[in-house]
Amino acid sequence: MRKSHSEKTSTYFHVKTTKKKTKLMTCTYEGCTNTFESYPHARFCEFHKDPSTRPVDKKKEEVTTFTFKHPFLEPMIIEKSCICCGKPYRITVYPGTYEYPKFCEEHRSEFKRNSWRETHGKK
Ligand SMILES: [Zn+2]
Ligand SMILES: [Zn+2]
Repeated sequence: MRKSHSEKTSTYFHVKTTKKKTKLMTCTYEGCTNTFESYPHARFCEFHKDPSTRPVDKKKEEVTTFTFKHPFLEPMIIEKSCICCGKPYRITVYPGTYEYPKFCEEHRSEFKRNSWRETHGKK
Protein backbone atom coordinates (compact mmCIF):
# COMPACT_ATOMS: atom_id res chain seq x y z
CA MET A 1 0.00 0.00 0.00
CA ARG A 2 1.40 3.34 -0.93
CA LYS A 3 0.57 6.62 0.67
CA SER A 4 -0.48 9.42 -1.58
CA HIS A 5 1.37 12.65 -1.44
CA SER A 6 -1.69 14.60 -0.35
CA GLU A 7 -2.30 12.33 2.61
CA LYS A 8 1.20 12.99 3.86
CA THR A 9 0.94 16.73 3.72
CA SER A 10 -2.46 16.77 5.35
CA THR A 11 -1.13 14.75 8.29
CA TYR A 12 1.69 17.21 8.71
CA PHE A 13 -0.74 20.12 8.58
CA HIS A 14 -2.97 18.47 11.15
CA VAL A 15 -0.19 18.20 13.73
CA LYS A 16 0.70 21.84 13.27
CA THR A 17 -2.76 23.24 13.83
CA THR A 18 -4.01 21.26 16.83
CA LYS A 19 -1.38 22.77 19.11
CA LYS A 20 -3.73 25.58 20.18
CA LYS A 21 -4.87 24.86 23.70
CA THR A 22 -8.19 26.21 24.81
CA LYS A 23 -9.65 25.91 28.20
CA LEU A 24 -13.06 26.37 29.74
CA MET A 25 -12.98 29.69 31.51
CA THR A 26 -15.39 31.65 33.63
CA CYS A 27 -15.85 35.28 32.73
CA THR A 28 -14.12 37.55 35.21
CA TYR A 29 -16.62 40.33 34.70
CA GLU A 30 -18.25 41.10 38.03
CA GLY A 31 -21.52 39.21 38.37
CA CYS A 32 -21.15 37.33 35.09
CA THR A 33 -21.18 33.55 35.34
CA ASN A 34 -20.78 32.83 31.64
CA THR A 35 -18.27 30.19 30.75
CA PHE A 36 -16.44 30.17 27.48
CA GLU A 37 -13.72 28.26 25.77
CA SER A 38 -10.65 30.29 25.18
CA TYR A 39 -6.96 30.66 25.70
CA PRO A 40 -5.79 30.55 29.30
CA HIS A 41 -5.12 34.31 29.48
CA ALA A 42 -8.61 35.34 28.38
CA ARG A 43 -10.65 37.12 31.00
CA PHE A 44 -14.05 37.82 29.52
CA CYS A 45 -16.81 35.85 27.83
CA GLU A 46 -17.93 36.51 24.25
CA PHE A 47 -20.23 39.25 25.42
CA HIS A 48 -17.91 40.99 27.84
CA LYS A 49 -14.79 40.82 25.74
CA ASP A 50 -16.20 43.68 23.75
CA PRO A 51 -14.98 46.72 25.72
CA SER A 52 -18.15 48.67 24.97
CA THR A 53 -20.19 46.23 27.07
CA ARG A 54 -17.99 46.77 30.09
CA PRO A 55 -18.12 49.86 32.23
CA VAL A 56 -14.95 51.89 32.18
CA ASP A 57 -12.76 51.18 35.16
CA LYS A 58 -12.99 54.65 36.48
CA LYS A 59 -11.21 55.50 39.65
CA LYS A 60 -13.68 57.05 41.99
CA GLU A 61 -12.55 60.58 42.37
CA GLU A 62 -13.58 62.87 45.11
CA VAL A 63 -15.23 66.07 44.06
CA THR A 64 -12.89 68.81 45.16
CA THR A 65 -14.94 71.82 44.19
CA PHE A 66 -18.29 73.21 45.11
CA THR A 67 -20.61 75.41 43.12
CA PHE A 68 -21.03 78.83 44.59
CA LYS A 69 -23.76 80.81 42.84
CA HIS A 70 -22.71 84.19 44.06
CA PRO A 71 -24.10 87.57 43.04
CA PHE A 72 -20.78 89.42 43.12
CA LEU A 73 -19.90 91.59 40.19
CA GLU A 74 -16.31 92.07 41.19
CA PRO A 75 -13.71 89.80 42.75
CA MET A 76 -14.39 89.12 46.41
CA ILE A 77 -12.44 87.30 49.02
CA ILE A 78 -14.57 84.96 51.08
CA GLU A 79 -13.75 82.67 53.92
CA LYS A 80 -14.74 79.02 53.95
CA SER A 81 -14.04 76.08 56.20
CA CYS A 82 -12.10 73.19 54.77
CA ILE A 83 -14.40 70.20 54.25
CA CYS A 84 -11.55 68.00 55.37
CA CYS A 85 -10.01 69.62 58.45
CA GLY A 86 -12.47 72.41 59.17
CA LYS A 87 -9.75 75.03 59.08
CA PRO A 88 -10.82 78.35 57.58
CA TYR A 89 -9.32 79.28 54.23
CA ARG A 90 -9.83 82.11 51.83
CA ILE A 91 -10.84 81.97 48.24
CA THR A 92 -11.15 84.76 45.77
CA VAL A 93 -14.51 84.68 44.10
CA TYR A 94 -14.68 86.02 40.56
CA PRO A 95 -17.74 87.20 38.71
CA GLY A 96 -18.98 84.53 36.34
CA THR A 97 -16.96 81.78 37.99
CA TYR A 98 -18.96 79.50 40.23
CA GLU A 99 -16.67 76.56 40.89
CA TYR A 100 -14.37 76.84 43.88
CA PRO A 101 -12.19 74.46 45.86
CA LYS A 102 -13.85 73.14 48.96
CA PHE A 103 -10.61 72.39 50.75
CA CYS A 104 -8.00 74.57 52.37
CA GLU A 105 -4.79 74.99 50.40
CA GLU A 106 -3.19 72.09 52.19
CA HIS A 107 -5.97 69.63 51.51
CA ARG A 108 -6.39 70.28 47.82
CA SER A 109 -4.03 67.40 47.30
CA GLU A 110 -5.65 64.00 47.58
CA PHE A 111 -2.59 62.60 49.27
CA LYS A 112 -2.71 65.19 52.05
CA ARG A 113 -6.42 64.66 52.59
CA ASN A 114 -5.97 60.93 52.90
CA SER A 115 -3.17 61.27 55.39
CA TRP A 116 -5.18 63.81 57.40
CA ARG A 117 -8.14 61.45 57.49
CA GLU A 118 -5.94 58.59 58.52
CA THR A 119 -4.45 60.46 61.45
CA HIS A 120 -7.91 61.67 62.51
CA GLY A 121 -9.64 58.33 62.08
CA LYS A 122 -11.95 59.52 59.32
CA LYS A 123 -12.19 57.59 56.10
ZN1 LIG B 1 -19.23 37.90 30.85
ZN1 LIG C 1 -7.90 71.34 55.28
